[in-house]
Amino acid sequence: MTAQIETFECLADNFGFLVHDDKTGATAAIDAADAGAIRAALARTGWTLSHILVTHHHWDHTDGIIPLKDEFDVTVVGPRTEVTKITGLDKTISGGDQTSVGSLEFEVLETPGHTLGHVAYFEPESKSLFSGDALFSLGCGRMFEGTAAPMWQGLAALRELPDETMVYCGHEYSAANAAFALSIDPDNKALQKRASEITRLRSENKPTIPFNLGEDKRANPFLRADKSELATRMGLSASDPAAVFAAIRKAKDRF
Ligand code: ZN
Ligand code: FE
Repeated sequence: MTAQIETFECLADNFGFLVHDDKTGATAAIDAADAGAIRAALARTGWTLSHILVTHHHWDHTDGIIPLKDEFDVTVVGPRTEVTKITGLDKTISGGDQTSVGSLEFEVLETPGHTLGHVAYFEPESKSLFSGDALFSLGCGRMFEGTAAPMWQGLAALRELPDETMVYCGHEYSAANAAFALSIDPDNKALQKRASEITRLRSENKPTIPFNLGEDKRANPFLRADKSELATRMGLSASDPAAVFAAIRKAKDRF
């Protein structure tokens, strides 16, 4: 395995990640919430920053870009449709593209809805998914831009990735997500199991990420919007998963 991943907490509840390619020494930060936290992670690991892969335009994912560009020789990669909203992009990508960090080839997946241009990055060799604010453990990002149907399709595409995939998301929201998920899917055994694991990790002050995608497929209501149990629970027909997804998203906003 050539990809090494360093995970750290920053700002109020953000996660930061460094992905390091052993073969070439290239190192990417996934998003740049906080330049200081990234600098500290680089000092800890001894790695040199070469890339920043940006998932979406929100300040808590981009504020570190310019200070890091001043300091390192970095290539900043981000979604083409958000080029006017993200200062400092050197290279733009969109769904279906690949973008390299040394010898690592990240696959770009379109995950619109939290923002319109939001993308996730999948590194197939280590089976690591960097999902930004699109997919969280037992949850998904708030829908700020766009509509439910493309957001549902983006999450359904993430669901196609292998079960062994480990997911690195942008925030520690797992405990609140678990409480909501249990309120609408109380009999789900996979969900109950994951929820108690989250309770244990948080009581020990440990992060709940990375998390296993296969387990999340069975436990996360937002990845189960096309299951009849969830449709029934929302009082809707299972034939329209986007409508069920929209109803679940709305219920979470009010929870
Ligand atoms: Zn965001
Ligand atoms: Fe965020």
